[in-house]
Amino acid sequence: MAGMNAQQSPSIPPLSSAASSSPHYQMWWDCGACGATGLLGHAHRHCPQCGAAQDPQQRYFPPAGAEVEVKAHRYVGVDWRCRFCESPNAASADFCGNCGGPKEDATQVPLVEDKPATPTTPPQAARRTGWGTYALVVVALLGLVMAYFAMRTHPEQAVIADKNWTREVEIERLTAVSQTRWCDALPADAYQISRVRVQRSTRSTPDGQECHDVRVDAGDGTFTKRKECTPRYREEPIYDDQCRYRVNRWQVQRSDQLQGLTHQPPAWPQPSLAPGLMGGGGLGAERLGQRHETYRVVLKATQTNKTWTCQVSPRVWSQLRLEQRVALQVRGTGGADCTSLLAADL
Ligand SMILES: [Zn+2]
Ligand SMILES: [Zn+2]
Repeated sequence: MAGMNAQQSPSIPPLSSAASSSPHYQMWWDCGACGATGLLGHAHRHCPQCGAAQDPQQRYFPPAGAEVEVKAHRYVGVDWRCRFCESPNAASADFCGNCGGPKEDATQVPLVEDKPATPTTPPQAARRTGWGTYALVVVALLGLVMAYFAMRTHPEQAVIADKNWTREVEIERLTAVSQTRWCDALPADAYQISRVRVQRSTRSTPDGQECHDVRVDAGDGTFTKRKECTPRYREEPIYDDQCRYRVNRWQVQRSDQLQGLTHQPPAWPQPSLAPGLMGGGGLGAERLGQRHETYRVVLKATQTNKTWTCQVSPRVWSQLRLEQRVALQVRGTGGADCTSLLAADL
């Protein structure tokens, strides 16, 4: 069984074979002892200037364009870090090249992460909530309290000082109207139609891919490059027919109004209507449209000189008599709560 397992060789990570096929480049490191910079991670295990051992924590990727390829590189794995002198050693070595310390129980050197090219958004943008939110909450609460006192009502004695009504009727005229719509939604009675080709929407279509190199720290003073690609899209306009046309539609042309006082029974205005072209019903013909009616009572306080005007329903209006005393609910703002008239003992 053990022999079979060894033949299948499951312990060899696929990384080593893949990494050895692609080119390796020198990581860089800076010497902390003498300040020398841009030293080669694989070639310079010791500082060429002062002889200090390499600190694997000082490794970094070289600036773009300054990469130095390691020719005929044999990758044996991530370096181990000496427990005694901290210097990095090849995975194949059993003893530290700097101090002679043994490999056993040694940990691997830390790997450098390649930073993405896109700059990260500044953190200030994320936290804008703070005092602004508290101030908003306080203002909202104050507003609620003020609204409560403004809306709270108290009763006041009043008499009906005046009554009046308004009745209004709209007059519509059949008119030729110009409209624009997509031709697939053309009204059935459209005429004088003209078509224009116009962009209606956009469609994103795949357009190749965006690729960039990601540098991968191999851990032995070298790094490799991996291509990372994301699909790219192109916005394409979609055109359609747009129609300009005319249709005959009833349009509110004017309104007639009739106003009356207490003793006049409500009545609707009787406007004269144009018959329209071609003996009636054609363009220019008029008809009655929507009707609106409003009924108002003017109330006068019995104790003070205050007056209020309330809009009420036709039923309430006809039941209220001039000089009738009513109890009116008045708000903190001084305005009348006209709905209290409905609840009055009528
Ligand atoms: Zn040095
Ligand atoms: Zn050592």
